[in-house]
Amino acid sequence: VEHYLQRIEENRHLNAFVAVYADDARQRADEVDARWQAGTAGRLAGMVLGIKDVLCYEQHGVQAGSRILDGFVSQFTATAVQRVLDEDVIIIGRQNCDEFAMGSSNENSAFGPVRNAADTSRVPGGSSGGSAVAVQAGLCLASLGSDTGGSVRQPSAFCGTVGLKPTYARVSRWGLIAYASSFDCIGPITHTVEDAALLLEIMAGPDVFDSTVSRNPVPAYSQNLTLNRPLRIGYLREGVESEGVDPAIRQQTLGALDWLREQGHTVEPVDFPLLKHILPTYYILTTAEASSNLSRFDGVRYGFRSPEATDLESLYKKSRTDGFGDEVRRRIILGTFALSSSYYDAYYTKAQQVRRLIKDETDALFAQYDLVASPVTPTTAFRIGEKASDPLQMYLADIFTVQANVVGCPAISIPNGTDNEGLSIGFQLMAAPFGEADLLATAQALT
Ligand code: GLN
Repeated sequence: VEHYLQRIEENRHLNAFVAVYADDARQRADEVDARWQAGTAGRLAGMVLGIKDVLCYEQHGVQAGSRILDGFVSQFTATAVQRVLDEDVIIIGRQNCDEFAMGSSNENSAFGPVRNAADTSRVPGGSSGGSAVAVQAGLCLASLGSDTGGSVRQPSAFCGTVGLKPTYARVSRWGLIAYASSFDCIGPITHTVEDAALLLEIMAGPDVFDSTVSRNPVPAYSQNLTLNRPLRIGYLREGVESEGVDPAIRQQTLGALDWLREQGHTVEPVDFPLLKHILPTYYILTTAEASSNLSRFDGVRYGFRSPEATDLESLYKKSRTDGFGDEVRRRIILGTFALSSSYYDAYYTKAQQVRRLIKDETDALFAQYDLVASPVTPTTAFRIGEKASDPLQMYLADIFTVQANVVGCPAISIPNGTDNEGLSIGFQLMAAPFGEADLLATAQALT
């Protein structure tokens, strides 16, 4: 704990943490140590963990990187967080992120941007940027982030960490501040596949507070990390052939695929004709869900309230205008439009239908292949400010990650070398829903 507290202090400029729980962590370390001495410590004893600022932790602040939750303190602890606490994890602080997890660069935070530790002029990716940088820079051993369209995997690719997005409904969302409820997943960011597997197996499983969580038994992922059969692996042709993919990323991706082939797996290119429809579908549906989820932040119930309000309507308007940042307001407006009575069928219903087609086409892919591989991102970490004024350009960076959330399947990002500037490259594997075991074992073999 002292080691990490010192590392955090020395790396303030990265802006990875928005709150550090020094006294808490020290006290907890003593308690865990006592249990260790008594032989009763949990499976995560000694793991120093950071949590993204969207996860509730009783009696600790939580703001989703937003001014609108200024001063808000959690009344309860998220189930996923409680489960790791029950195994004696030590929580060292909460981590910066894009406001309400909306973004791909961690530039949309009320706490300011996070910097990539490999090159501080560059973004760490988002929205779990603080969580990825904290692991990258050794400010904690592991982090818990959330992934609605790539927010655990894309920053992992940019920071050289392992990022796991579980199957939808594998892990309870109780206590996760909602962005888009039918997409949101809590996932670990770690140095090793083994730590990701262990965290997942501890967090996963039914929860009385979230009726959507699957009752499928939770395998002991961390005990089954050896692959013992040849797999059929498809790789997205676009991921290696598209003009938009950096040459270094193409080369590293092909290298990983060659290695898998050498290990005896069948590795073949696959086409996904609906690829170009995934992003529009994602952005229509997630903004629609966000506009509904974020309606609760009205200036009355939580956090920030505009001091300039004169009546109830201006209280709502001014609090929401001043409390939310540009990107969040843009998405609330987009989502409200998509859900408005005159456009509902043209946008929301249509996007739901396309989501079903994407799901069917992905299922067909998994009938043929155990895993589908691709790069995580078309580029390596870009410069802070480079895409900030062009939201469409920013959305396009999510091209390879959003599919897993649109269909609810698991996906992992693992480090796959660097480009010639030393910037990290990620390799993504996706599996059919509840196929985490194959996913993790293959990732383990590759790392
Ligand atoms: N970059 C994507 C977005 O802005 C994904 C965010 C996420 O996974 N939370 O919506």
